[in-house]
Amino acid sequence: MIPYGRQNINQKDIDAVVDVLKSDFLTQGPVLPKFEKEISKYCHSQFAFAVNSATSALHIACKAVGLSEGDWLWTSPVTFVASANCGLYCDANVDFVDIDPKTYNLCTQALKVKLEEAKIKNKLPKVIVPVHLSGQSCDMKPIRELADEYNFFVIEDASHAIGGRYADNSVGSCQYSDITVFSFHPVKIITTGEGGVAVTNNPDLAAKLSLLRSHGITRDKNSMQYQVDGPWYYEQLELGYNYRMTDIQAALGLSQLSRLDEFIEKRHTLAACYNELFAELPVTTPYQSDDAYSSYHLYIIRLQLSKIKKDKKTVFSELREAGVGVNLHYIPVYKQPYYRRLGFPNDYCPESEKYYDEAISLPLFPDLKHDEQLFIADQLREILL
Ligand SMILES: *Cc1c(COP(=O)(O)O)cnc(C)c1O
Repeated sequence: MIPYGRQNINQKDIDAVVDVLKSDFLTQGPVLPKFEKEISKYCHSQFAFAVNSATSALHIACKAVGLSEGDWLWTSPVTFVASANCGLYCDANVDFVDIDPKTYNLCTQALKVKLEEAKIKNKLPKVIVPVHLSGQSCDMKPIRELADEYNFFVIEDASHAIGGRYADNSVGSCQYSDITVFSFHPVKIITTGEGGVAVTNNPDLAAKLSLLRSHGITRDKNSMQYQVDGPWYYEQLELGYNYRMTDIQAALGLSQLSRLDEFIEKRHTLAACYNELFAELPVTTPYQSDDAYSSYHLYIIRLQLSKIKKDKKTVFSELREAGVGVNLHYIPVYKQPYYRRLGFPNDYCPESEKYYDEAISLPLFPDLKHDEQLFIADQLREILL
């Protein structure tokens, strides 16, 4: 089976990890701050805090902006559950804004309408989590304008989008947001095994992120509330967590980061090849907005069902049987039993429902071979026509 995603690990990556294993520090050593510095440099953010997953990064991002009981967090339904769960971790309420039928990202027009309604009901959100699906940035300028008008925080879930750009800025520059989060899970663009990072330009949020990822503890004299008892002294200022990333992981991340642009170029080449191969097929290939340069984490097609005699489930199953490891990103979050129990109806967002009926993610990763792409196109043609 050709998988839908796969990491690319070379000898340099392996050597970097082995070097840490032979060193004095497996965690909280010198490599992690180096990795963070390089992440900041790459995406032009002032601060970066690496953690053990993007899920943890989203959690502490929500905590850092003060999300708590009674507050609302809104996100897109077409995302991994973590983009919404971070709100629930903070005892806040979660709601969903339907997607744009072209980009499959959170629809800014729908957001505007929902905000107007929420204002009347006095239920405005404290946090919006735009998710850059497939690595293509959401339309961040209008989201920023709405954030200023309605006074909410913007936390970008850029788990798919490291290396992407929007309006001439790197995703992660936080030009239009308060915090941006990346994931380093092996299916994502670069990997640390498990891992994630939260980046920001705001010094107050940075201080909070730094505390929250490591038990709420500080060793910085300037942040302490009481007199230093002795050289052993540290203070716990907040209820934080152990969300730290190890130096072993950071070494892998640092090495991977040096090949990030290469990976993305390769993904673009592969996507362009798919676009050509599918030109005559009854599928919609990924729309690319003029404002955004995607990191192409995913290549999602939508079946033009009116031109096909099969439903998506059949096409999907037949592709898997043919050895094409297709996947689906994502089941709209409100359909999950946990969210259904919170009161969401099964068909809550119409555009997300349509997407769910039609979308299929095809294999896309730097080592995908041209022959494999031809094979995938052949299988798809045979199944659809
Ligand atoms: C992968 C992913 C996450 C979670 O990332 P982890 O590093 O696995 O915790 C969150 N949001 C989106 C959109 C993702 O794709």
